[in-house]
Order: sequence, then C-alpha cells, then structure tokens
Amino acid sequence: MMERENYVRHVLELFAGYGDAEAIVADDRRVTFRELHDGILGIASQFNPGVAVGVLASTAPEAVMLQFAVHLLGGRIAWIAPNAPRSFQDSFLVRAGADVFVYDEHAAGALGSEMAGASGLPTYRLHELAAHAPAGLPEGVTTEPQALYQTSGTTGDPKLVLHGEKFFNTALAFARHYKASGEHAMKHLSLAGYWVMSTQMPAHMAMLTGGTYYTVSKFVTAEFFGLIAKERITDTLLTPPLLYFLLDHPLTAEADCTSLRRVNVGGAPVAASRLQQAIERFGPVMRPAYGMSEAPIIAAYPGIPADPVVLGSVGQPYGDLQLEVRSPEGQQLPAGEPGEVWLRGGVMMSGYWGQPELTAETIVDGWLRTGDFGYVAPDGNLFLLDRVKDMILTGWGSTNVYARPVEDALAAHPAVHAAAVVGVPSAEFGEVVHAYVVPAAGASATPEELREFVAGRLNGTWAPREVEFVAELPLTGTGKVDKKQLRAWRAASQEAGKDSTPAA
Ligand code: AMP
Repeated sequence: MMERENYVRHVLELFAGYGDAEAIVADDRRVTFRELHDGILGIASQFNPGVAVGVLASTAPEAVMLQFAVHLLGGRIAWIAPNAPRSFQDSFLVRAGADVFVYDEHAAGALGSEMAGASGLPTYRLHELAAHAPAGLPEGVTTEPQALYQTSGTTGDPKLVLHGEKFFNTALAFARHYKASGEHAMKHLSLAGYWVMSTQMPAHMAMLTGGTYYTVSKFVTAEFFGLIAKERITDTLLTPPLLYFLLDHPLTAEADCTSLRRVNVGGAPVAASRLQQAIERFGPVMRPAYGMSEAPIIAAYPGIPADPVVLGSVGQPYGDLQLEVRSPEGQQLPAGEPGEVWLRGGVMMSGYWGQPELTAETIVDGWLRTGDFGYVAPDGNLFLLDRVKDMILTGWGSTNVYARPVEDALAAHPAVHAAAVVGVPSAEFGEVVHAYVVPAAGASATPEELREFVAGRLNGTWAPREVEFVAELPLTGTGKVDKKQLRAWRAASQEAGKDSTPAA
C-alpha cells in the first residue's frame, strides 16, 4: 500500500520552525516547541504504524505529544475520560479496540494501574514513553490518523465520537488562516483536560500558530486570575456555570484582566443578562461559541455587542461550515423559523465508533443533525432555543416551550445566580415547566415572584409552574448542567412522595 500524506508531518515542520518558543505551560512546567517536536518523535519510535492506543491522561504536555505521535503513525487514539464511571472506563478500552493502554503515572497512577490490570493490555507509562530519545520519521504508514472522544452524555449514554484526518487537516487550515489574518499571538488558557474535544481545538490553534497553550491541573480562582495577569493570557474558554461563578466572585472586581482579547463562552447556553455583565467587566472580548463533540466549532460571535437583541445569539457559521435549519421532514426553513440545526463542514465527525445505525441516523446525505433546535435571524446570526429532545410540550394547547428563553428570563432576576429548566411529566398538562434555581448570595425570591417575573417577560404558559431552590446545579464531567440528573432528582422526589429536591 502507498504511504499516506500525514498532517502531523506539517505540524512537525511548524513546531521545528517555532524552536525555543514556549508551546505548553502546564502548571509550573514550561515546554518549548523543540521539546514538543522531539517528544512526538520519541514516542512514535516505540509503536508500530496503525497502533490503537487507549489513554488515561489529562493536562500533562506528554498527552499532547502522545496524540501527535499516534497520529504520525496513522494510528487511533482513544481518550478515556478520567472522571467517567469506572465501568465505562473499562468498557471504553474494549469498545475502542485498543491494542495498548497508556496512562499518566504521575497524575493517575492508582487508577491507571488498576485499569491496566483489568484490561490485560500491554501497558505503558506516559512520562516514561516521552523520555525516549527522538528518532527519524516513521515509514510504512498507510492508515488514517483517528481519535475517539466520548460525548459528555448530557442527553444519553456516552457515545464514542470518531474524528479522522479531515478534522485535523481542517484545524490546521484554520490555524494557517488565523496566522495569515495577522490576529494576535495566542496565549490560550484551558481549564479542562486535553482529553476533552473542546479543549483540543483551541489548544491546537494556539500551538499551530506558534502561540502558547496553558493548562492547569486544578482550578483555583485566585490562581486563575494570577495566571492571567502574570502571563498576560489573551484567550480562554469558559463554560457558562464557570462564567457565572467568576462574575459573582469577590476577586473578579479587582483582577487584572487587561490582557484578555477573547473569552470564549460555550458548551451550553449562556444567559444574555450574564453575558452583558461579563462585557461590562471584561470588555468587548466575550465570544459566545457553539460546538459539540461531533463538530467542535460550529458558530461563534467575536466581539458580541452589548445589545439585548443579539446577546442571545451564538453568531455565524465558523470557517467552511454550512448550516441549515430544517423541519422534522428535513426541509430547509426560511430565516426566522425555528427547526433543527443541520450542518456540514471539515470539523464534522466521521461517525460514532462501532455504531453504524446511529451514525446513519445522525449523518444524512453528508449532513450532521445536531439535535439542537433554533433559528437563523435575517442578519445571519444563529439563535439556539433548546435541544430537540428537551423541548417541553405543555398546557391544554400543547404549547412547545423551549428551556433557553425561560432560563434566560430567570437569570435576569437579581435574586438568581443560575437556573435550569426541564419538562417534567404532569397528569394534567402532559408536561410542565419545572425550574431549578440557585439563589444569588444573600438574596431571596419566592417561587411566585419568579413565576411572575418570567410571565412578565414571556407569558404565563412559559413561566415555570414549579420552582425549586437548590444549593447548586448538577454538572456533567465537562461542566454543563446535567439535565438528566435534574430529571432524576425530580423522579426521586416524586417517588419519595415529597415535592422538594434531595439536593437543597
Ligand atoms: P457536547 O457534545 O457534550 O459538548 O454537547 C454539545 C451540546 O451543547 C450542543 O449540541 C448544544 O446543545 C450545547 N451547546 C454547546 N454550545 C452552546 C452554546 N453556545 N449555546 C447553547 N448551547 C450550546
């Protein structure tokens, strides 16, 4: 078979050119591009072309080296979520068809050796692998580089999302475009591990453009702000719950964030009122971004204006991405009409690993069904309303209620720190709108006040029929509000015959 063109060869050329500049700063370790380059070649020399590696690692720079090394060999890397349930971690290795297992012996030694024992696979320690001297470029590579990531499972069991060479080539093309456009050199601070798909995209953008990828193994508010000020961080990515936490934190008022050029907020809906506060605090640097494991960057809104009409938008399709809003029958809908978001483009996944039927349901004629429900405004900006599966059908008229506008309305109340809305079964109305509300520190409001507040902004049908106050909202491993868990709370409290949440 013919030797394949491999994207990592281009990456290695770029890294060699960036030389002694800093590629990665991980806690107190600083790694240059030369070290990154050599680490990749050192690791690659220890495996055969086409190897399938299951890996348990999070923020170590060696994890970055490992992925590029496996890809240079035309291999498959499967990222085990360190915070997934144990049974899933074990089955992931089997489902992913791993030939070998690699774990970070410093950060996950105990779990790694347990998993090694349970899997029976040939096992390597990450730091030992990376300490190997670099060798020349591998030969005889005929297979496509691939990577498997688990979805965060906000709406079902984790699936294994497969990204192939098209995806990594697209990221390389985005990076070239970014560099050519003369935009600022990136110092991107990531707060999630490298195993998370949405971490890899901006981390690669930073490194491929000669910027620096910063990663921390633990989030501490004072250290977060300290790092931004000391290193003059330009970019970061926050989930909405983390943004709300920072906005309400006493340290935020005094922190020096003048270096920030772009604060991406994404992974879940961000309330327009909180985004407005963030613009007031951090300046016109907020960028709502919409992505999913299946297509990590779909739309983005750089420099979103503090205009209430557009603050709820996620902006316009990113890069080469094409986006259509379609009816349940798959017909494209005109601007302004809500429907399911479909897309196609280079960042789209190749499919769900080992699940051809699910893949065929999700990728239809080359288009990916996102399962997200929204509309495109006449100016081209995309507004997301809900997940198709989470929409609430309520009232005698069976009205469709979308969680997002209700959550935004609740979040605009001064006594509300954060809110999440789910539909819960009701004998009378099919479903009713049920809100979980985390009160703002030192503030209080009655359920009735909040209901009226939402009814005033939307209407009585959309106002939550039930409001429960909770100390915090349950989050998934990647920091999104876990709606499955909220529904489980509700079911558990009904089972117990009471009307309150177990977590209050
Ligand atoms: P995951 O694949 O687990 O990262 O989840 C992706 C889902 O998160 C998307 O399908 C959306 O429902 C949601 N999501 C991501 N970014 C945004 C955003 N900026 N606004 C609203 N929803 C978002």
